[in-house]
Amino acid sequence: SAMRHLPYFCRGEVVEGFGRGSKELGVPTANFSEQVVESFPSDMSTGIYYGWACVGNGDVHKMVLSIGWNPFYKNIKKSVETHIIHTFKDDFYGEILSIVILGYIRSEKNFSSLEALISAIQEDIEEAKRQLDLPEHLKLKDNFFHLREGKTVNH
Ligand code: ADP
Ligand code: MG
Repeated sequence: SAMRHLPYFCRGEVVEGFGRGSKELGVPTANFSEQVVESFPSDMSTGIYYGWACVGNGDVHKMVLSIGWNPFYKNIKKSVETHIIHTFKDDFYGEILSIVILGYIRSEKNFSSLEALISAIQEDIEEAKRQLDLPEHLKLKDNFFHLREGKTVNH
């Protein structure tokens, strides 16, 4: 159930998250609105994915994505958060984030320490970078770029 919806395209506004301090850990995650999260297939597994992302009409970058249980709704709703593997000068709340999800890295895990969490995230980022350098995934970066010109994705 992790792979069968892939590649998965999604576009939506970047909203405020729940201040879990992702940015303080060095991995800010751009959150999609509840409405966009609801539009995801309900049987799409929680966990960590990789793919391509762009903000507004900006460049396409590598990303890692978390589909997780949303603590704000007592873990009955999901949250979808994208960490773009790029350093931005400014925050981009309110901008339109376009993503294409291409592969699955791992399921959600609980970590016994902050160090363990941070090192898992660093490993996820390295795995995403390696995967996205494969020709089959680089090819989709260009397709994605052209798709961005379209008006509707997944709707
Ligand atoms: P929040 O809880 O509001 O989601 P985060 O600490 O997760 O706060 O930070 C996310 C915000 O950081 C994004 O909404 C975006 O505006 C900004 N940001 C800056 N650089 C990045 C990046 N490389 N990837 C994702 N978001 C980024
Ligand atoms: Mg966030």
